[in-house]
Amino acid sequence: MAGNRTFTMIKPDAFEAGNSGAILKMIEEAGFKIVAMKATRLTPELAGKFYEVHKERPFYADLCKYMSSGPIIAAILEKNNAVEDFRTLIGATNPANAAEGTIRKIFAKSIEANAVHGSDSDENAAIEGNFYFSQLERVI
Ligand code: ATP
Ligand code: MG
Repeated sequence: MAGNRTFTMIKPDAFEAGNSGAILKMIEEAGFKIVAMKATRLTPELAGKFYEVHKERPFYADLCKYMSSGPIIAAILEKNNAVEDFRTLIGATNPANAAEGTIRKIFAKSIEANAVHGSDSDENAAIEGNFYFSQLERVI
């Protein structure tokens, strides 16, 4: 059975552009409840740890640099079928391929600076939420 939580980040490009509020509005209007949230900033080392699964990919070094280039918002979201429905809401990794009306189509600048992150499985949603939020911060 699909789980009911996913994890997201509003990435540095969207935060810097002042799009966090508009993106959170789209997320809430799509039926997701915010159950934990904070504004923070990754160091290059922490970005490297978060994206460790991509460490063999050619874009890894640039991705770590970009993800630590400015503040982000991290959040745990709740909804039925959360992981799949959230990836539908954000659209394809490359905004050029993202469906009309998706968050990346509207706000992403490039395949790298693509506005938002969405977990790709229930297991990773839990790992990523735990990466950012302690038990005390996850009271809901
Ligand atoms: P995310 O994990 O951030 O939700 P995703 O699951 O759609 O994105 P992944 O394949 O997991 O895509 O890639 C992680 C991130 O690495 C992308 O969101 C993007 O910022 C960056 N990225 C992916 N592919 C490329 C690429 N070809 N060139 C540059 N950056 C890329
Ligand atoms: Mg991914």
